[in-house]
Amino acid sequence: MENTRPKRVDIIFLMEGIDPIKVVENAMKKSPDEIILDMIDSGLKGRGGAGFPTGLKWKFTRNEDSYDKYVICNADEGEPGTFKDREILDRVPEKVFAGLAICGYTIGSREGFIYLRGEYNFLLPVLNQKLDVFNAGLKKIGLDFTIQMRSGSGAYICGEESALFESMEGKRGEPRNKPPYPTVSGYLGKPTAINNVETLVYAFMIARIGAEKFKEMGTKDSRGSKVFSISGDTPKAGISELELGMSVQQFVDEFGDGDTKAVQVGGASGGCVPRKMFKETIIGYEGIPTGGSMMLFNSSRSMYNVLHDYLEFFTEESCGQCTPCRVGCQQLLKGIEAVKRGDKNPGYLDDLKKLAKTMKVAAKCGLGQSVANPFISIVSNFREEIIY
Ligand code: SF4
Repeated sequence: MENTRPKRVDIIFLMEGIDPIKVVENAMKKSPDEIILDMIDSGLKGRGGAGFPTGLKWKFTRNEDSYDKYVICNADEGEPGTFKDREILDRVPEKVFAGLAICGYTIGSREGFIYLRGEYNFLLPVLNQKLDVFNAGLKKIGLDFTIQMRSGSGAYICGEESALFESMEGKRGEPRNKPPYPTVSGYLGKPTAINNVETLVYAFMIARIGAEKFKEMGTKDSRGSKVFSISGDTPKAGISELELGMSVQQFVDEFGDGDTKAVQVGGASGGCVPRKMFKETIIGYEGIPTGGSMMLFNSSRSMYNVLHDYLEFFTEESCGQCTPCRVGCQQLLKGIEAVKRGDKNPGYLDDLKKLAKTMKVAAKCGLGQSVANPFISIVSNFREEIIY
């Protein structure tokens, strides 16, 4: 990216001249294998944060020999600081529906679901209304695929794909052991392609504009653009769609308030980038990946308080199923409180960092594994703010 400022694009929210049903119909002129090749060629990676190549996910699900297969849109957007999926579902839901339908056609599924975060239930009446029209449109073009809404109940852990399946099946939302992965055994034990809201819209747009056009944006490892939820100490809080591959410095030049000392990239479970690393840190899969949450902190903020809030959040949201996460979250929280009070000497922070590293390898799911990201980055870069 040559410019010093991030390049703004308008793909996600662009609706002018687009008929989503028509795009699905045109996509169906290609074979499923051709669509998969397009998706792989485009370089599209999951926009939920994990970054798994979308085309491969669709290919693995298609390759499974099963009469029943499912497509699920993960709209359980619960990462602190993230609000872009809500905006997408509010403004351009038909693009999400069409992304699901194209995925359904590609993998050979007849049923799709949107698992909506419980706190977004206010969107349900309108989404259901629009889905009725959209499902009827799919019938008209001869695609045997129906989409339904499912509602979450407010647990952060249900954003984890296997906990989401458990929740959809009416059970307590707890992550499953992996493997098997969802492409083999997902919802109801059947092959399932689960995609983030934003990923489905980009898949839809790739079907419309072609892989080549999509590839023109971004970098070799991070193709295309991304929608960011920007919050904190910024005069430009809100949603922005930006080309991938910018440095944190470029981002701060555009969205900072002139006094940014840290950027939390990827929400509470992401890493905290201090000012001294703004220039060298790329926002993308080759640097620091993000599901889209960007929280800016200026020098008026206490990074102890920031970390304390995150740890309280994880302690509250841990499902309690595995010991490293259930006990680890509590111990990290108690540990920094003890250091702050002066009950433990600053060297104790190094023991806590070891505990966080252990959680990264020993916790069962992404929640417990990712606590180390904010913990180690904040303690390492803002140690003086943590100690007594
Ligand atoms: Fe539950 Fe945490 Fe273990 Fe995940 S890491 S299974 S959230 S206790």
